[in-house]
Amino acid sequence: MRRLAQAPNLAIATLWADALRAEGLDVTVQREYLGAAAGELPPDQCLPELWIGDDAQHALALRLLAALRHPPQRQWHCACGEFVEGGFEQCWHCGAPMPGA
Ligand SMILES: [Zn+2]
Repeated sequence: MRRLAQAPNLAIATLWADALRAEGLDVTVQREYLGAAAGELPPDQCLPELWIGDDAQHALALRLLAALRHPPQRQWHCACGEFVEGGFEQCWHCGAPMPGA
């Protein structure tokens, strides 16, 4: 068992765990029931944590987690030379559609 990350809340911890399990990783959420005792512990001791059961999957799990926390921004270069960011499928400069869209 190795710790992967601390989540800001249980909803996000569950979301991450579900996503990683979908990739076939053995992930568990720890401390999810300690919320009731929050008054007795420092706040950072009460946050849910993600743990990986198989140490060999640790690096892969961290990579997947990083992708979940920072989804890649869709950006592309238009033929006109503009760099289009923010998920737009059309160049704001010349109106050309995103290649492959
Ligand atoms: Zn363009």
